[in-house]
Amino acid sequence: MQLIQLEENVWVIQGGANIGIIAHEGRCLIIDSGMDKDVGREILKQVQKLGLVPEALVVTHAHADHFGGAHYLVRQTGLKVYATRMEAAVMSAPILEPLYLFSGAQPPRELQQKFLLARPCLADVLLTGQEVRIGEIPLRILPLSGHSLEQVGVAYRETFFAGDAFLVPNILDKHGIPTGYPVYGPAFGEYTRASTGRAG
Ligand SMILES: [Zn+2]
Repeated sequence: MQLIQLEENVWVIQGGANIGIIAHEGRCLIIDSGMDKDVGREILKQVQKLGLVPEALVVTHAHADHFGGAHYLVRQTGLKVYATRMEAAVMSAPILEPLYLFSGAQPPRELQQKFLLARPCLADVLLTGQEVRIGEIPLRILPLSGHSLEQVGVAYRETFFAGDAFLVPNILDKHGIPTGYPVYGPAFGEYTRASTGRAG
């Protein structure tokens, strides 16, 4: 995983799901936590290499690849976890992700693997408004529901961490859009064709 500086005191660790780091005077907050303990360990390594102490984790949405590393980070550092109410509910009971993918019935084992079933993590603070100050770091929290029910984006100065609200074409080509129905409208037209193989 590669660490890239975006602006002063702001970095991204590029990986399967990007992870943000925002620092202030030796402390930092982390945005999203990757899929599992291995990613959590890598995040911690990168943060320590920057000489920072992690104080908080903001989870953009409760898909396993965005919060699976949280359990490890909390245990290792005691950082405080921030998420919106619905996403926090899934984080506290991660079986909900494979459960809703299987229409509420007992999900088969194939859906209970680490891409879809993370270790649980309780949120300490529920994100409600559009402004939050974590330590000395002021953030704007923007609603980005769609990909996930209460996904949010995190804006700080010139940087916007958007969770999975935007997916690049090669990811869409690989996975498609997870719907069995054609989606209409200018915002989706082109991608629908790509994902369903039919004009939408
Ligand atoms: Zn996602």
